[in-house]
Amino acid sequence: MPIYEYRCKSCGAKTSLLVLSLSRQAEVECQACGSQDLTRLFSAFAYHRSEGDRLSEVDTGRASGDEYYKDSRNVGLWAKKRVRELGADAETQRQVDQVVDKARDETSKLFE
Ligand SMILES: [Zn+2]
Repeated sequence: MPIYEYRCKSCGAKTSLLVLSLSRQAEVECQACGSQDLTRLFSAFAYHRSEGDRLSEVDTGRASGDEYYKDSRNVGLWAKKRVRELGADAETQRQVDQVVDKARDETSKLFE
């Protein structure tokens, strides 16, 4: 049976949940404050993650330190996520993605 971890968007607490079925998954709530606004966390063992996974982990309510941005793949994730949260259209998302990709190039040079 899979165990999923969630991060509460309201209070930041981590909730672990034994998921019995897909229907139960819809009822997940924060064990600390009861909020249902949770983000699914991904296994620390999953070394190779897709851009989509990384994107889903970004916490747009919190700033990240320099260490985080030394991994150039993390640069711009915030912006990419934010623009989706705000419901930007596909063209705007594409433009933001382009800016981000360029910024990543430049950032990775900074740390070389
Ligand atoms: Zn909470």
